[in-house]
Amino acid sequence: MTKALFLIDSYLKEASAKVVSVKDGKYLTLDQTIFYAKGGGQPHDTGKITKNNEIYNVVYVGKFSGEISHEVDHAGLQAGDNVNCVLDWERRYKLMRSHTAAHVVAALLHKGTGALITGNQLGEDHIRFDFSLEKFDRPILETYLMKANELFGSDIPVKWYELPREEAMKIPGVVIMAEAFPPDLPTLRIVEIVGIDKEADGGTHVRNLKEVGKVELVKTENKGKNNRRIYFKLA
Ligand SMILES: [Zn+2]
Repeated sequence: MTKALFLIDSYLKEASAKVVSVKDGKYLTLDQTIFYAKGGGQPHDTGKITKNNEIYNVVYVGKFSGEISHEVDHAGLQAGDNVNCVLDWERRYKLMRSHTAAHVVAALLHKGTGALITGNQLGEDHIRFDFSLEKFDRPILETYLMKANELFGSDIPVKWYELPREEAMKIPGVVIMAEAFPPDLPTLRIVEIVGIDKEADGGTHVRNLKEVGKVELVKTENKGKNNRRIYFKLA
């Protein structure tokens, strides 16, 4: 099983690894990785894997049968190779900021209106949310983003840690998300934005809300009765 370094230290930009297996020349598993595998609404990471002076660009990272698979742009690596991995950090850091912002906006929206978040997708350029809410207009959403922006100017820590499953399941709001986890996991990874949000989460986040910067509304869409969509982005 690949050790997911990004879950332990989301700020790791570079790490060594050993190639464990290679399929069709371009699909690698590693003993440990800094590359986030697409999932939970967060896009996969990109970057480079190098062996000696040869560079293999990481073009896709996915999770298949529980294993993290890295697709590189050309064949050549073999099982047993020692490699160096480097993230496209600028892209990842932006996703960490967006992901953290998404938690805050969702939490404010949920607390303020009772709306349930029914879907979310982080893009490289924007954050998209779907939620259930009957009364819906742009000024209300602008107000929530304003409140979120006040928090992004504050010194509020974001922590992540493991909790025994039983204990984690007692946290209000954690249960719905936890259903996405494999049922046999004895511990859950909790992401806590102190005083704002606490949920089981396998994504990457910034350590403090101050790092988020500001967000701005892009557009809103009405997707039918009680089904709303909002797009916002990092300013
Ligand atoms: Zn998250």
